[in-house]
Amino acid sequence: MSRGAEPDRGAIEFAERLIALLDEGAYTATYKFAVLLALLDSCLEGTSAAGAPPDSVATADLARRVTELYWPQTNPYAGLSGTAILRQNSSGQAEIIRDIRRFRERNAPDPSTPLAEARAKAPLQFAHLLETVEWKLIEMPLPRLQVMGRVHDPFIYRIGWDAHVKRPQTRVAGFDARVHFVGKAAEYLVQLGGLLRPLIETKWANRILRFNRQMVSDAGLPEFLFGAERVSLGAVRPVLRELQGDRCFYCGGGLRSAAEVDHFVPWARWPDNGIENLVASHPGCNNSKRDFFAATRHLEAWLPRFDQTSGLGRNLRDTAGALDWDTHPARTLSVARAFYLHLPGTAKLWLSRDAFENADRPRIVALLAS
Ligand SMILES: [Zn+2]
Repeated sequence: MSRGAEPDRGAIEFAERLIALLDEGAYTATYKFAVLLALLDSCLEGTSAAGAPPDSVATADLARRVTELYWPQTNPYAGLSGTAILRQNSSGQAEIIRDIRRFRERNAPDPSTPLAEARAKAPLQFAHLLETVEWKLIEMPLPRLQVMGRVHDPFIYRIGWDAHVKRPQTRVAGFDARVHFVGKAAEYLVQLGGLLRPLIETKWANRILRFNRQMVSDAGLPEFLFGAERVSLGAVRPVLRELQGDRCFYCGGGLRSAAEVDHFVPWARWPDNGIENLVASHPGCNNSKRDFFAATRHLEAWLPRFDQTSGLGRNLRDTAGALDWDTHPARTLSVARAFYLHLPGTAKLWLSRDAFENADRPRIVALLAS
């Protein structure tokens, strides 16, 4: 008998321990959820050309991702009175939320401003914000995240610094501002991300409900916190249409007035609006694809966007520059590798409206691995 069909106890045990951490109640802020999602995303974004997850992740990268996650959440929430924002701490407000909120009030008062635009408008202030967020992660949630009851059980990562470090010491040469993954933790985060992400988001939303009992209405809370609709994609739609010759990315049919912007790597798997991940499509094709991964032929049609020597790659980068839109092709390509190179043998990929096909593994490896 092949052992291949048996569940990998390592991955399951890892998932069980991580879920137990989510329910651990000692935490007073929502940092735990943000940091876990940031770790998950960092594993995806740091996947090598050969498909291997990273050994470690820099605290600066975690700070960037945590800030991106909290960005839409630091807007006034319609279910509260006036212009109040959601509380993300058991008493008072979480410091990171306060810092992001302050940055927004000073530099990007319009709630619809995407993070990339705010960063482009106030680069120095944004760099300062990221430094502050990074220090807060180093000081508190990262050393304490893996505490169950009173026991420190580092099964996901080990921190590269002393838990009692003071801020000036982080600026000393040789300070190891990284978390180092333990065993196969990074691999498990990539493998289990599709299951863990919605679970972490649900627990996060529930914690916010507990912290905001004065809420008038919680309808639409998950969408407010994590939804793709929080940033208008309207600004990039005409450019994507033009780059695609006004044809649907998936079926090649002519686009009419109601073209939509689709996330090639599904938002539910990796919430990110980098321009390389966006394609224009028919509403029908977009609706049918939903949270599925696109078929091998679509992957092949998508990859020229990462070729910076091609007109298309340059065009996308120039467009992002002109619109102050987010662009990070290396990260986006790493995420595609993390998913496509780890697809199970039985994976069905979305081909066209109501049609799926098996993943063409050798072709995918030839396209993505280098
Ligand atoms: Zn179409």
